[in-house]
Amino acid sequence: MIGISAAKVLAENGVEDVVILEASDRIGGRIRKEDFGGFAVELGAGWIVGVGGKESNPVWELADKSGLRTCFSDYSNARYNIYDRSGKIFPSGLAADSYKKAVDSAIQELRNQEASCGADDVCKMIPEPPSTPKTPIELAIDFILHDFEMAEVEPISTYIDYGEREFLVADERGYEFLLYKMAETFLSTSEGKILDSRLKLNQVVRELQHSRNGVTVTTEDGHVYEANYVILSVSIGVLQSDLISYKPPLPRWKMDAIEKCDVMVYTKIFLKFPYKFWPCGPGKEFFIYAHERRGYYTFWQHMENAYPGSNILVVTLTNGESKRVESQSDKETMKEAMEVLRDMFGPDIPNATDILVPRWWSNRFQRGSYSNYPIISNHQVVHNMKAPVGRIFFTGEHTSEKFSGYVHGAYLAGIDTSKALLEEMRKDSDTKSENQNFMLEPLLALTGSLTLTQADAVSSIHKCDIPRRFFFSGIPEAIL
Ligand SMILES: Cc1cc2nc3c(=O)[nH]c(=O)nc-3n(C[C@H](O)[C@H](O)[C@H](O)COP(=O)(O)OP(=O)(O)OC[C@H]3O[C@@H](n4cnc5c(N)ncnc54)[C@H](O)[C@@H]3O)c2cc1C
Repeated sequence: MIGISAAKVLAENGVEDVVILEASDRIGGRIRKEDFGGFAVELGAGWIVGVGGKESNPVWELADKSGLRTCFSDYSNARYNIYDRSGKIFPSGLAADSYKKAVDSAIQELRNQEASCGADDVCKMIPEPPSTPKTPIELAIDFILHDFEMAEVEPISTYIDYGEREFLVADERGYEFLLYKMAETFLSTSEGKILDSRLKLNQVVRELQHSRNGVTVTTEDGHVYEANYVILSVSIGVLQSDLISYKPPLPRWKMDAIEKCDVMVYTKIFLKFPYKFWPCGPGKEFFIYAHERRGYYTFWQHMENAYPGSNILVVTLTNGESKRVESQSDKETMKEAMEVLRDMFGPDIPNATDILVPRWWSNRFQRGSYSNYPIISNHQVVHNMKAPVGRIFFTGEHTSEKFSGYVHGAYLAGIDTSKALLEEMRKDSDTKSENQNFMLEPLLALTGSLTLTQADAVSSIHKCDIPRRFFFSGIPEAIL
């Protein structure tokens, strides 16, 4: 998302000499559609989060303009569809009480942390832990409360600014269709494909050598690109890995910021069945499995609202469970998921006929699903995360102070970073012309015998300049 949104802003401001380097063979990054069981499913971002509020979510506007098909997801009833291991649904009163207890406990924890942390964000004492969830229903509620909207710290700006409604993208063209619609405004495209030579796929950036004059970018296959500036939009997980090296190395303050941000792993596993055996209808889109192990195949969704007759279920795992499942075979995962479904719906349900397990953690171009800042927000960390180092401009959903973790956070961060770069280029060119004015007289005096005109003299200076190119790394599309 950022690669395309950043490059579009540059193009709109007359900067067309841009190269987008993308490590994989497609644009989209963490926006990724795949055909599964005859339907387009979203392995990465699935929802447009934050709709119906006082301001309009820019991604919702893009979806509206592109005619993207979406459907409303109502999470409010999920807590009333909690199954125990014998297939019984917990009474609604008990579910509501457990939910209230979990919310109160989370608020208490936040207050404790706020009380113990000074304005400098240094925590001086370990706060009293709030009551920890113990029973399967408490663990299940704790999981859905904390492991999903972990992208932002409270208060969640997305909900406050854009509204609390969430719409699931249910379009055969995929969420990524928004990217193509944006790309076609400034790149050559044909029939949904980007044909522009400024987008270079399969270019894995491995080294950024930077100086006061420019940046040299070296890729895994030995290509070398020279640029005046680089926008680096790889994920926080990639920044924390050793995929890209920097010469000279990044300063300590930048490394500290990168290390302080956690990486959340969020995995949607898709299962296809010969027929539907789960309840459907209003308030039934989501259901929850309460197990002694926190996060063990807890959160389920049926795809009947998005694609009626698809007979697809989705189960969401996070963090440790995601990593565990990534490291085992899909056959083992299918067996575990089927045991859980048989606990809930009885022994006679049919076996799944297909399974799809995305591996966001193992993917060296992602290394996780999205950023997660510590619960007490720290303005300085985000500021350092996005601050440029010389001519390298850092961006990514993790650089969005208000909307980190989300597609709209990425979209807006791309715009912000390009605006910052344009400003820097403007300053750079002002300084250059001041220097040139300053140098012109002696230069003309020196070359006077060669009868150079003032214009000739200036153009010869430009010829010595490095090519005006920009590289985006990362992001869907390209980058660097
Ligand atoms: C499973 C999952 C579910 C999600 N659900 C939602 C949701 O419902 N709603 C929502 O709003 N958000 C959701 N998100 C988050 C959202 O997808 C991201 O915040 C957003 O897409 C990030 O965009 P980006 O441009 O910052 O990064 P990316 O999309 O990660 O783009 C970075 C690009 O850099 C490339 N790259 C990496 N390393 C290199 C290299 N060395 N050289 C060249 N290129 C490189 C990558 O291949 C990638 O294309 C979800 C994410 C995941 C993974």
